[in-house]
Amino acid sequence: MIETLSCNQVIYAFSKEHAPVIQVKPGTTVEIETYDCFQNQVQTADTKIAGIDWDAINPATGPIHIEGAVPGDLLKVKIEKLEIGEQGVMATGPDLGVMGHRLDELVSKMIPIHDGKAHFNEKLALPLHPMIGVIGVAPEAVAVSCGTPGRHGGNMDTKLITEGAVLYFPVFTKGALFALGDFHAAMGDGEIGVSGIEVPGKATVTLDVVKGHSIAHPMLVNEEGFTFLVSAKTLDEAVKQAVEETVDFLAARIDLSLAELTMLLSVVGQVQVSQVVDPLVTVRFFIPHDVLEAYDVKLFANE
Ligand code: CA
Ligand code: ZN
Repeated sequence: MIETLSCNQVIYAFSKEHAPVIQVKPGTTVEIETYDCFQNQVQTADTKIAGIDWDAINPATGPIHIEGAVPGDLLKVKIEKLEIGEQGVMATGPDLGVMGHRLDELVSKMIPIHDGKAHFNEKLALPLHPMIGVIGVAPEAVAVSCGTPGRHGGNMDTKLITEGAVLYFPVFTKGALFALGDFHAAMGDGEIGVSGIEVPGKATVTLDVVKGHSIAHPMLVNEEGFTFLVSAKTLDEAVKQAVEETVDFLAARIDLSLAELTMLLSVVGQVQVSQVVDPLVTVRFFIPHDVLEAYDVKLFANE
């Protein structure tokens, strides 16, 4: 059975204190509608972006209580399908993103989406790469705004969070309290101007609980490999945490000394940047599946 959630059921922070809008059994597939990150307030080129309600931004649809999920488990989220609307919007301005110190006005731009492309202007039709910016569970301690990423997920703005990907989140509270929002029709690594092509849409996800494993940060798995998604104050710190968690994760599964494992990851591990513009930056350390396959082990043994 497929459950459906309307985009009116939103949260602006991930929190243990929120009452779930729906409760589902592990293995349930849910269709989740979402607003864009401006809660669809910018609909025409004439909309004064500075005049929108800034308390109603970065909404995430949810939260969903998954039965049987308790602290110490993993929540497994398979992105079965990702559909996006026909009009995108971008914005940038002073104090936002990498170029904020050289911009003197908050500006927005409508981006029509049709014929499988995002039409930036008459000359530039960009390929679509739909992705989810905000996705996660209730954090361990105090509420975290949907504009900030962390160990619970949240605003990770990672372009690999797309159709076909599987995410694992540490569960910090009973039921996990899962939510998602902030779709992008496309976004570059870094998201340097502070927005992707922001767009409303609908995600179809299957939610499951994995017992007996714990991870410190969200993990993403796709056809090519897997990566932790690590958010921290600086890129240096995020890379260090991502590499060390990956080393520890692999050391528990394959028989290599620390030095051998470090040399292996120095060859096959790819440090990648997801975003550098949110209150914490987010990086990936991507490992191809061949490594675990060569040792005939799975990411999580009892799955
Ligand atoms: Ca975002
Ligand atoms: Zn966004």
